[in-house]
Amino acid sequence: MINNDQKAKRLFGTNGIRGVPNEDLTPEFCAHVGQAIGTVFQTKSIAMGRDTRVSGEMIWSAVESGILSTGVNVIDLGMLPTPAIQYYCKVHGVYGVIITASHNPPRFNGIKCIDRDGTEMRREDEEKIELVVEQSDFKKVTGKECGLKTSYPSAVDDYIEGIRKIITPENVKKAAFRVAIDTGNGAAFRSSPELLTGLNCRVVTLNANPDGNFTSRNSEPKPENLGDLIALMKTGRFDLGVAHDGDADRCVFVDENGNFVDGDRSLALIVKYFTSRGSKVVTPVSSSDCIEDVCAKNGAILVKTKIGAPIVSRTMIREKALIGGEENGGIIYGRHQYCRDGAMTMALILDLMAREKKKLSALLGDLPQYSMYKTSIELKEEWNEVRKRILNRAGAEEIDFTDGLKLYLREGWVLARPSGTEPIIRIFAQSSTQEKAKSLVEFIVEIAAS
Ligand code: MG
Repeated sequence: MINNDQKAKRLFGTNGIRGVPNEDLTPEFCAHVGQAIGTVFQTKSIAMGRDTRVSGEMIWSAVESGILSTGVNVIDLGMLPTPAIQYYCKVHGVYGVIITASHNPPRFNGIKCIDRDGTEMRREDEEKIELVVEQSDFKKVTGKECGLKTSYPSAVDDYIEGIRKIITPENVKKAAFRVAIDTGNGAAFRSSPELLTGLNCRVVTLNANPDGNFTSRNSEPKPENLGDLIALMKTGRFDLGVAHDGDADRCVFVDENGNFVDGDRSLALIVKYFTSRGSKVVTPVSSSDCIEDVCAKNGAILVKTKIGAPIVSRTMIREKALIGGEENGGIIYGRHQYCRDGAMTMALILDLMAREKKKLSALLGDLPQYSMYKTSIELKEEWNEVRKRILNRAGAEEIDFTDGLKLYLREGWVLARPSGTEPIIRIFAQSSTQEKAKSLVEFIVEIAAS
């Protein structure tokens, strides 16, 4: 029996269970996770989806087998973006499981659980699953009671339609935008180009062939991985450049001149044009002060949290917030759903470009200017040791302990925190210029490494 006071070995990180197929994610282990999911959520059906990774089929089959063995049915949604399965779960009120490792390199994969409201699973439910796995305390039914599998092939269409309902499609259609989109061989290969075409955009796709080895580019949508998109935008033939990560819960932009747009600047733009007095916005302490300034101007209320999309979305639900997001291009729009949503983000940017009748560079140019710089370094010792050294030697005027250490120094602020998924420290800085932000980061790197 499950004893709720016990704690099992932690399997779920900040974004599901991640690991290397056949090393961490063996068929046996994945089947046990499936059995545990079915045991904990004795419900009629659980939806399943996956990204384009080659190992997805193997992991899916094992997880599915585990779920069916507990008498729970599986609804097969196929290959689709993480926000598309989340939307399905929200609309139909069912739990979901997606096989994805988001932006991680192709040798990884993962299992992520979704709550019945479409948000990431609550930690307490993940703990229940972990305990059942550890104790092998699985519900087992007889052969004739096993779950059945059905397919629902329209989840992507429903998701696209859901997004169209939120914006003003007529405005966007009239603008007839020229859009270049790089889906990076990932899960949005169909959904985002179809959404754009339906909005009367003239679309050129890059890497829109689903390829689980991510042959074309690294699936993290950082400027250094988006050379082809940036080069295409520099031809001056497009109004907007768009790129997603592997599971398309994130979206980043390149302006009409080929300049990469930092995620918190696109977030600030959405906050500027979609909030009014009293609207609530949620963002982690790592985001640019630009968002704070835009909120203040609109009379919107900003709530700052620890880093992590599930924390941002849970806080949004609690605060009844309209917009939330992170500097990495993970933006949440509460009117659609409380999770990061790449295609929704793209639609909002098109909507505001159409409404304002301005180029993206001009819209961004009207925002308050701050420069951000970020990096990560290997964590070779206990975080506590590094933390102590930084506290002793950085000489901060003020410190915010919301997540890691956010130090306010003369030239700006710098945030250092250990990653929740890898043995690294992430360091973010903000200053008036890129050089100053970079030197703030270097100052902390030096202390951390010495
Ligand atoms: Mg992702």
